[in-house]
Parts: sequence; C-alpha cells; structure tokens
Amino acid sequence: MKYLLLLLVALLIIWQWRSHRDREARKKPPPRGSAKQPIEMVACLNCGTHLAAADAVHGSQGSYCSAEHRQRHEA
Ligand SMILES: [Zn+2]
Repeated sequence: MKYLLLLLVALLIIWQWRSHRDREARKKPPPRGSAKQPIEMVACLNCGTHLAAADAVHGSQGSYCSAEHRQRHEA
C-alpha cells in the first residue's frame, strides 16, 4: 500500500511538471519575422547575381553584389 501511495505521488509530480511545461511552451509567442518572411532579393546590375537586399551594395543606379561591381557599372 505504501508503494502505491509513492507511485501516486510520483505520478502527481510528473503530471504537475508536464502541465507546467506545456503552459510555458504556450506562453512563448511563435517566432515572427525573419524566419518566415521571404527575404527581399535584388539582382546585381553588373553581373545579374541575385542576393539578399540586406547584403547588397547600393549604388546610385541600383543594387550590386559587391563594391567592385558597383564601381565597374557606375564608372
Ligand atoms: Zn555583380
């Protein structure tokens, strides 16, 4: 009988822990932005390589894959 009580207590602890963990998981907002949003792509005006707008080098006429291509195109 003693063991049954211990088992019950153990189950109760596990159940409490699990429900607490589930609540914690629900509280967290789903990751927004960066991961799900499509990355804006631009093409290099000099060689046509597509790259993320954030990584592009911006010149007076548009975007480039590198400073070298910007110089070559806008010179
Ligand atoms: Zn380029």
